[in-house]
Amino acid sequence: LSKRTETFTDSVIRRMTRVSKKYGAVNLSQGFPDFEPPKEILDRLAQVSKEDFHQYSITWGAQNFREALAQKQSRLMGRTVDPNCEIVVTCGSTEAMMAAMMTVANPGDKVIVFSPFYENYGADTILTGAEPIYVPLYPPEFNFDADELEAAFKQNPKALILCNPSNPCGKVFTYDELKIIADLAQKYDTFVITDEVYEHIVYEPNKHIYFASLPGMWERTITCSSLSKTYSITGWRLGYIIAPPNIIDVAKKVHDFLTVGAAAPLQEAAITGLKFGDDYYKWLLDKYTHKRELFLKGLDDIGIAHTTPQGAYYILLDISEFGFESDLEFCETLARDVGVGAVPGSSFFREPVNHLIRLHFAKKDETLFEALNRLEDIR
Ligand code: GLN
Repeated sequence: LSKRTETFTDSVIRRMTRVSKKYGAVNLSQGFPDFEPPKEILDRLAQVSKEDFHQYSITWGAQNFREALAQKQSRLMGRTVDPNCEIVVTCGSTEAMMAAMMTVANPGDKVIVFSPFYENYGADTILTGAEPIYVPLYPPEFNFDADELEAAFKQNPKALILCNPSNPCGKVFTYDELKIIADLAQKYDTFVITDEVYEHIVYEPNKHIYFASLPGMWERTITCSSLSKTYSITGWRLGYIIAPPNIIDVAKKVHDFLTVGAAAPLQEAAITGLKFGDDYYKWLLDKYTHKRELFLKGLDDIGIAHTTPQGAYYILLDISEFGFESDLEFCETLARDVGVGAVPGSSFFREPVNHLIRLHFAKKDETLFEALNRLEDIR
C-alpha cells in the first residue's frame, strides 16, 4: 500500500465520535451542533426534494448558489467577489483545503502550519506530497514569534495555512498579527491558504478580519470556508474556495477530479441561508456567546484549568493534575467512566503534548449541563 499513507492515522477527532457512541458518552469531541439548523433552510430542503435538483449541478457549484455566496462574501470581505471566476463550491471545507493545497503545492514543497493546528492540515500536506514547517503559537495567548515565523518563511515555503478563528486554541488573529503574516507572505512570495469556517463565531470585543482583505493579499490568498458551522449543517458537506481567477481556474480542475461537485439539492436548499440578513449572524453569535459563558462558568465551578476562546467553540482543558500517562488514555477513560467525549490535545500539536484535551460547546444547553454534571465526577 502507498508509503504516504503510512505517516498519518485516521482522524482522532472523528474517531472520538465513534468512541463516544460506543460508550453512550455526551459527545463534546468532534465539533458539530446537536441543535437544528434554521427552520427556513429545512423548509426549503423539504420543497427541494420535490423539484428538479436530483442530478449534478455545475461542477464548481450551482450558478445561483455561487451568486448568493458571492453577494454575501462581497459584503463581508469588502470587495466584489465574482461568482463565475472567483468561487469553487466544494464538499465541505475539508475538500476546499485539500484542493487548495493541491492547487498551489508540488511534491516536496514546504508549507507553514501553526501549531496547534486542525488535524486535517497534517494529512492534507502529506497527501499532497508537501512538507509542513511547524511554527508554534505560545500559550496562554497563542501568540507567534515573528522571528520564528520569518525563519520558516526563509525556508522558501509555497504556502502558509492560517486557521482564523483558530481550532483548537480559539485564537482570533489581530490586524497587527495578520499584517506581520501578510508582509512576510509578500516578501517571500508565498500563498496563504485560510480556513475561516468560524468567521461568524467571534466573541466581543474581537473582530474577524478576512486575510484576503489585507492590502495586497487578495492576489495570494486562497480563502476556504464552509456553511457547516454558520448554518449548523455539518452533514451537508458544503464548503467553498474564494480566490483570484488564475488560482480558481486551477482549483476548479482539482475539484472536478476529486469530487465532481457538492450535492445539488443541498446547494439549492442552503441558498436560503446565504440570503439571510445580518440579524441571523447576530442571533448565531448571541447563541454561542451564551453557550461559551455557560460552559466556561461550569468548568470554573468544577475547577479545571482551561483556555478561554476568542472565537470558534473549542476549549483546551489542562488535565495534568489527573496524573494520566497519556491524553489518549485519559480521553478513553473520560468517555467510558465519566461519559463525556473529548479529543486528546496531542492530535493538534506538533510539540509533544499530553496534558491537554479539547471539548466543544456547540450543543444544546441541556446537553452542556449534562456534560458538566458528569464532569463533576472527574476527580
Ligand atoms: N472541525 C471539527 C472539529 O474540529 C470537525 C470537522 C470534521 O470532522 N470534518 O471537531
